[in-house]
Amino acid sequence: MDIRLPGSYTEGAARFRAAADVQGAALERHEHGLHGPDGDALAIDVARLGSTAADTVLVVMSGTHGVEGFAGSACQVHWLESGGVKAATDAGLGVLLVHALNPYGFAWVRRVNEDNVDLNRNCVDFSAALPENPGYDELANALVPERWDQETQDVTTARVLDYASRHGFPALQAAISGGQYRHPAGLFFGGSNPSWSREILHEVVDTHLGRRSRVAVIDLHTGLGPFGVGELLGPRPITPAWERARSWYGELTTPGEAESVSAAVSGDVLDGIERQLPDDVEYTPAAIEWGTVDVVEVLQALRGDAWLHAHGDPNGSDAAPIKAALRAAFAPDDPEWARLVGVRFEEVVGQAVAGLAG
Ligand SMILES: [Zn+2]
Repeated sequence: MDIRLPGSYTEGAARFRAAADVQGAALERHEHGLHGPDGDALAIDVARLGSTAADTVLVVMSGTHGVEGFAGSACQVHWLESGGVKAATDAGLGVLLVHALNPYGFAWVRRVNEDNVDLNRNCVDFSAALPENPGYDELANALVPERWDQETQDVTTARVLDYASRHGFPALQAAISGGQYRHPAGLFFGGSNPSWSREILHEVVDTHLGRRSRVAVIDLHTGLGPFGVGELLGPRPITPAWERARSWYGELTTPGEAESVSAAVSGDVLDGIERQLPDDVEYTPAAIEWGTVDVVEVLQALRGDAWLHAHGDPNGSDAAPIKAALRAAFAPDDPEWARLVGVRFEEVVGQAVAGLAG
């Protein structure tokens, strides 16, 4: 059975609730308060399946990065409808599905939330000194300029590429995507306080995971790497969690290392969950990152979207092509891409179930 990407956040959330309901899930809905472009309410939906007494739980999360939820939601629905979740609960596991951690970004086709915040840079300690990113400071005006006409794009893109020629591509990637806390309208902005989504996730973890002995999380992402390839990003080497993840999944990468598609980042949600769980919980976090289109195309789409929301009119005539480019960069409208996502998801989630049940 192939996975099928929803046409919108609203369709994805409805399909998720219906599929979870058929499987007898306990559903809870955390209303956001803001609305999507179609006027529909936004929410994080959480489905719990399996015995409440299960001391081992597998968590699958979608939409941490809004628009990336098109694929993540489809995976969750597929896992429910194909009988995969039932197989996991039959094996004695508890299953927790968190749908659309960033519903605003999913609905409005943005990677960031209602405050232009990247949730995977937001789980830092805001009472302490925030991470510095001088590379981003240098490029901030070039990355998100005040105008987005062709001439401005040509000039500013040349400045960005010049940074790569002086410092190398990994340094450019770290500067752009490592996270920054000084430019609220910029890219990969970590925020200035804990986001609504972070607060809700805290509540969900507290309610459902605090008293378990083993917890594994798979967070579903798109936008980095070769088309349709789902790279598995694991815990920091060489820790017991990393050893365990290696034994379940085989090949893993670590953000920031040469072989990974991802830069090292500060304040991601998987680290946030780890800090919240009691020390004696055996915790195995991982993220799947599916590649889509060329990295420069992804960056241009993110820059255009940031410009639209900082300096343009998200309801005006510039919006449609920018949103189409962003959607194409994070959820390609291509059945072959969806097929590859589905195959890889089934493989990884099956390995997690086998690792937890074994
Ligand atoms: Zn992501």
